[in-house]
Amino acid sequence: MSLNSSRESKVESRKSSVESRSTIRKNPPACHSERTQACHSERTQACHSERSEESPFVSRVRFLSVSRRLGRTAITICRARFLASLGMTAITVFAFGSTPAWSQQEMVSQLKEKVSKAGVFFRADAPRVLRNSNDPCLPLYLEIINGVEKTAHTTGAGLSQYITREPLKLLGLNLFVKPAGAGRQFVADLLPLGESKDFSFDARSNGQPLTITDRMKKTLEVPRESIDTYLRQHFIGGPFHAVDLWVSFRLEGWPTQDFYLRVDLNAPPLPSLPGWYRGDVHYHCGYTDNPAERGYPLSVTKQTALHAGLDWLILTDHSTDLSVERYAQELQEVQKYRDGRLMLIRGEEITTASSKQTLLTTVHMLALPSPDNPEKGFPNPSHPQEDVILSGDGSVASAALPIKEALSRIAAAGGFAYAAHPFDPISPLMRGGSWDLDADFLAPEGKQLQAGLVGLEPWNRATMATADDARDPYCLHRDADPEACFQPDSQANQYARLEKGIELGWRPLLQRGLQASGDSTHAPGFKVFLAAGSDAHGDFNYEATLDVVDFLGKPSRGLSGYAEDNALGKISTVVYAPEGMGPKGENILRALKSGRSVLSNGPLLIAGLERNSHGSLGDSGDVGIGDSLAVSLGHLPPLQLAWVSSAEFGPIESIRLIVGSQEGESQPQEIPVPASRQMASGGLIPVDLRPFLGKNRGVWGYIRLEARTRNATGEEFRCYTNPVWLEITGD
Ligand SMILES: [Zn+2]
Ligand SMILES: [Zn+2]
Repeated sequence: MSLNSSRESKVESRKSSVESRSTIRKNPPACHSERTQACHSERTQACHSERSEESPFVSRVRFLSVSRRLGRTAITICRARFLASLGMTAITVFAFGSTPAWSQQEMVSQLKEKVSKAGVFFRADAPRVLRNSNDPCLPLYLEIINGVEKTAHTTGAGLSQYITREPLKLLGLNLFVKPAGAGRQFVADLLPLGESKDFSFDARSNGQPLTITDRMKKTLEVPRESIDTYLRQHFIGGPFHAVDLWVSFRLEGWPTQDFYLRVDLNAPPLPSLPGWYRGDVHYHCGYTDNPAERGYPLSVTKQTALHAGLDWLILTDHSTDLSVERYAQELQEVQKYRDGRLMLIRGEEITTASSKQTLLTTVHMLALPSPDNPEKGFPNPSHPQEDVILSGDGSVASAALPIKEALSRIAAAGGFAYAAHPFDPISPLMRGGSWDLDADFLAPEGKQLQAGLVGLEPWNRATMATADDARDPYCLHRDADPEACFQPDSQANQYARLEKGIELGWRPLLQRGLQASGDSTHAPGFKVFLAAGSDAHGDFNYEATLDVVDFLGKPSRGLSGYAEDNALGKISTVVYAPEGMGPKGENILRALKSGRSVLSNGPLLIAGLERNSHGSLGDSGDVGIGDSLAVSLGHLPPLQLAWVSSAEFGPIESIRLIVGSQEGESQPQEIPVPASRQMASGGLIPVDLRPFLGKNRGVWGYIRLEARTRNATGEEFRCYTNPVWLEITGD
């Protein structure tokens, strides 16, 4: 913070405290001693001036950052752990290359000092929205890793034996809050943390720094009441829903490490419909843990998922990071934390070898457990105690099971799989590639999907904007480089990537499924479903990757730290489970296995054929999303639609009906939405399908729907349904 800005903010602070004095209900929680203020003013001088100096190393990283931008999408898909080890090598080489000509002893001690600071990882994170009004706290997750390569199980780990690190000493944490946006500055007063839970490491409470030899993972639960009181005391014009947080680690012998987050403190519930449960098929928690990426503990993940408005979450940690023991441990944690409010299911993201090239091509697969036994893994027939599919040791050269073998293990266990981000190229360095339609999705004759595979997940990561600054992507710091902050990124446009997946994979597969139907009167030859997953790795507020510090203890930008506007809860798969989720998530898995789901980043649109005129779609005999019906044109009931949005996502702009046949898909047909029903259908709205289906006589086809909304800020949101399959048997 520059002198100017701190002066301005003090003026604002004074103004607002006069304004709000009469409205202060009680003093802030008491643990705030004078000592804090002293620490704070020291920090204010020191902390940000550090960032404006630019070390040659940072310039070098900026150069790398430009080249990285070009390949960002490719790299970000799976966050090449290879780059982590590469990055460590670059850091080491550069350290030796830039050392001035001091005496040998000085050189050694300087180098030791620099190396002890390089490659240390910090992260502060908090939910981007608080929707759970039953939770009085904002969870603030804090992580420090004293040398990311120390725990590596990749080639980078070899370097760590040459690095001696001093323990880090955490003196405490400073937290500031202000109304969201560039128009307001942080004020100098600290947010009181006295009533926050799990703050024993703060020097303010025990006078001793916390010594971190290896790792620190803490969740600080900040009472929302403290935040409200602070805002009332310091800012005019409340109440404020969206706020900016400035989180600052105070360390002994280090510059402060600063993070900026944006939180909606009072977000409304997500749009919902009875019997439909919103969740995420692709999420990485703390069992994904390697030098390039790592998730968070389940306790704080659960708290944040509830704030995000999710009903269920499937943990899909990387097969490269798991072991039999870790997989068993993950199940124990799932059992501990799942409940009726948040259903947790243990799945796995498996790195498999594509069939199109036996050499050097891996693709990712979401393996989901049996709906009849969600706690069962995928046992190895030769070693039944090995119930997790493992892919080597996480290094680039590790072996991956061929797709076919992985699928046969999944299917034998009663499980099923979706192709993860199937058409997003992974960096060639990671041997990554796209799923191949014939070689990977389809069984040899092309008349079935490979056994065990049910669909694909082309809606992966809700990203529209990216930033080079992994600690301040909202540009909240005064000296922030606007170029480095969240910018629209055409490469990261989630809708373009989703449409590409539909175009390249889903539509051709749907068409093959219809063509393979032969004379089946019960169902098409095969079905194939869509799913959506955040692929967040922790990532409560935004997605940040490998933000380590350089030799001077400064955040290292560029190659080793960037951000994407993705977070837990931003995109979801919403499943139909009229009997509830099931005690272990059985009904969620059943719905995902049979395509009874829609994909959404906000609004909901559902559809079905009501065959008994009870005025609802949940009765037995009704035909819903994922189901199939053979019927004569004369007996074809109208398609019933229901939809709901909210002010957060805006009114429905368009509902489009798409009809699929063996020849391909029709042009989307607009279904008119009455102005009075743009926020919610308020019940079932019938649509006569006969004009659209006249041509599909005696063969299977399908219908599917898409809804689009736009909110007051112009942001677009979508919902995609899975199909309803229909055969018109005659007049
Ligand atoms: Zn992946
Ligand atoms: Zn993933």
